[in-house]
Amino acid sequence: LTEVLEHEQDLPSETPDGHAVPLMVNTGLAIDTTATLKKRISGVGLYRTEVPFMIAERFPGEQEQMRLYRDQLESFAPLPVVMRTLDIGGDKDLPYFPIDEANPFLGWRGIRVTLDHPEVLMVQLRAMLRASQGYDNMQVLFPMVTNVDEVDDALRMLDRAIRELAEEGITATRPKVGVMLEVPATLYQLDALAERADFFSVGSNDLTQYLLAVDRNNPRVASLYDACHPAVLSALARLAEDARRLKKPISVCGELAGDPAGALLLMGMGFDALSMNAPSLPRVRAAIRRVPLDAARMLVQETLALNTPTAVRSHLFTQLSEWQ
Ligand code: PEP
Ligand code: MG
Repeated sequence: LTEVLEHEQDLPSETPDGHAVPLMVNTGLAIDTTATLKKRISGVGLYRTEVPFMIAERFPGEQEQMRLYRDQLESFAPLPVVMRTLDIGGDKDLPYFPIDEANPFLGWRGIRVTLDHPEVLMVQLRAMLRASQGYDNMQVLFPMVTNVDEVDDALRMLDRAIRELAEEGITATRPKVGVMLEVPATLYQLDALAERADFFSVGSNDLTQYLLAVDRNNPRVASLYDACHPAVLSALARLAEDARRLKKPISVCGELAGDPAGALLLMGMGFDALSMNAPSLPRVRAAIRRVPLDAARMLVQETLALNTPTAVRSHLFTQLSEWQ
C-alpha cells in the first residue's frame, strides 16, 4: 500500500470523476520545503505564527518576525500562504508571557489577547506586511473570533499598520483577510462575518471542543472528543453551505481534514480546500482519488442521518473499506 501511495503522490488530488480538491499544508516551524512538496500542494492553509513565539525567550521583534514570515512566503511562492495572527492562550503559553486562568480555553485566547495588546498585534501585522513586500502570496487569518466587532477592530489595526508603513515610505497593499470559524457563535453570524472577510477557515479542533464542551487535551474526556459527532458534522455541513451561499471560499485546517474519512466528508460537504500536516497528505490524496464526488455527497447524507459518533465511525469504516 505504501508503494501505491508514494507513486500516487505526484498525481492530482482529484476524484475519479474529475473533481479537484486542493490540498494545503499546515506549518509552524521553518519547514524543509522541497520542490517535490510544492508540486503536490496548493499552498499553506495555516501557518501557526505562535510556534516560533513559543520557542523564543521573549517576544520576537519586528525585524525577527519579518524574516520568519518572509521565509515562509519565499519558500512557498507563488503558492498562497495563510498566516494566522498569534494564537496563544488555551494550551499555548509563552514562557515570557504567562497566562494563569481557571478555564484557559474559555479565557484569554487568540484574538482576545492580541486586541487587548495592540502593540503586540501591531508589530506582527507590520512584520507580515513588510515580509510580503515583493510577494503577492500572503493572506492573513484571525483566530478565535467570537464577535463581529473583533474582526472590525483587527481590520482597523491592519489598515493602521498599512498607513504607518506608508508614512515610512513602504507601500503595502491590503492582503486578503480570513476569519477562523472555531467558536460555535460564528455559525450563526456568518452573513455578518462574510461582509468583512475574504475567506473562512474552519478550525475543526476547537469547533469540536466548544460544540461538545469537551477539553481537547483532557484524557479523562478524550473518548467524548470526536469531530465525527453528528452535531459537529451538521455544523460543518451548515458552514460549507452558508459559505457557498455567501460566495466566500471556505476551507478546513483542523485535524479532521487530515483524516481520510474526514476529508471525504468535507469534500462531500463542499469545502473548497483541505489543509493538514504534511504527513497526512498521502492518505488523504489516495482517499480522494478513489471516491467520486457523488459518492462522498451520499456519504455525507448517510452520516448526517445517524445519531451517535459510534454509528458514524462504524458507517465510515464500512464505506472506506469498500473503497480501498
Ligand atoms: C483548530 O482549532 O482546528 C485549528 C486549526 O487551530 P489550532 O489547532 O491551532 O487551535
Ligand atoms: Mg484553533
